[in-house]
Amino acid sequence: MMKTKRVSKSIADVSWSQFVAKLEYKAGWYGKKVIKIDSWYPSSQLCSHCGHNDGKKPLEIRQWECSNCNITHDRDLNASINILNEGLRLSHQS
Ligand SMILES: [Zn+2]
Repeated sequence: MMKTKRVSKSIADVSWSQFVAKLEYKAGWYGKKVIKIDSWYPSSQLCSHCGHNDGKKPLEIRQWECSNCNITHDRDLNASINILNEGLRLSHQS
């Protein structure tokens, strides 16, 4: 069982690294830069409106309301906005 898990994780790692390599290659065609954010960045926990960290939520929670500013978020849309903003922040540092 552990061996199977380890093998499937290896396959996932290879697939992910191939995806990133292709993404960087294609971005280079268009003079764009791929910026990687920390894999532990809490994109689905932060409110993209006020920045409040609302904590972890189970995967089945698809919408949530920020306990600080009361705005309602679509989980994936909010996370993608946070990832975009983090990438832009990192690009301005380098
Ligand atoms: Zn908020």
